[in-house]
Amino acid sequence: MSRKEIVDVVKQYTEPFRVTKGKDFRLKDFDPGDTLGLKMDKKEAADLLRRGSEWLAMEQDMLYAQDSWSVLLVFQAMDAAGKDGTIKHVMSGVNPQGCDVFSFKQPSDAELSRDFLWRYAMKVPQRGRIGIFNRSYYEEVLVVRTHQELLRAQKIPPQLVGKSIWEERLADIARFEDYLTRQGVIILKFYLNLSYGEQKKRFMSRLDRPEKNWKFSASDVRERRYWDDYMKAYDEAIRATASKQAPWYVVPADNKWFTRLIVAAAIVDAVEKLDLEYPTVSAEKLKDLAAAREELEQE
Ligand code: ATP
Ligand code: MG
Repeated sequence: MSRKEIVDVVKQYTEPFRVTKGKDFRLKDFDPGDTLGLKMDKKEAADLLRRGSEWLAMEQDMLYAQDSWSVLLVFQAMDAAGKDGTIKHVMSGVNPQGCDVFSFKQPSDAELSRDFLWRYAMKVPQRGRIGIFNRSYYEEVLVVRTHQELLRAQKIPPQLVGKSIWEERLADIARFEDYLTRQGVIILKFYLNLSYGEQKKRFMSRLDRPEKNWKFSASDVRERRYWDDYMKAYDEAIRATASKQAPWYVVPADNKWFTRLIVAAAIVDAVEKLDLEYPTVSAEKLKDLAAAREELEQE
């Protein structure tokens, strides 16, 4: 396949799930079980994914050499949607030296003493690197919105906590992303869209299989009670922050092989657009290189 053909195929996969405009967005228009009618077997899907990862590894090398753009991949999802597995598989071929993964958990006291974006801003990838946020500043309008005692723990002056706090936060996030993209950070946001039913199945399998027991947490099951609140919060978050420069991908997550494929395709698509090349060296540097060669040859 030519480069152009690959790009066209990749587009067909990613287009249906890309959200660049919030206005008419509704989470319930997206089917967690969608596979675009693809009936691949596991081997085929793995093969395609492997090719995507190899391609990404090549591009990453150029990204690093260029030292100019960086890529920020944001992963958000309900528990057991497959964030960890997706990150592991999609990034499998990539040089660990050019890539940083950050998993954001409950904030520490020091983090709670700062503005809400502080701890995330510190981890934005350097030029030339790929940064992965396993959970992100979006938790600040998801879990914190769902459990308002978490908001109280943030010690914000009470006069500043009004009815429109979530709208304000979402606007701040959208501005933050605009700012970063204007600095050369390519931002892609993935919501792994798992259904309520499939989450239950995955929790059950964590209980049934001893090698999966460690992943099980009783509190995750309790959190299912707030499912509708979370869906509402995701809906509003995506609506307020989807943009051309920092798109959301609402990726079907009931079939893991498909999730991984779509995430890989979206990254390939975005990085491909940068038209990366290895930096060309100046005439002066070429002279240096020739001199170095001569020196080596004369040893
Ligand atoms: P896994 O369960 O797959 O290992 P995880 O991302 O669910 O991964 P956990 O340690 O289980 O990791 O959970 C992290 C918890 O931290 C989540 O419940 C998340 O909602 C919470 N969290 C993340 N960011 C914030 C935040 N800013 N404020 C409060 N809680 C947060
Ligand atoms: Mg968890």
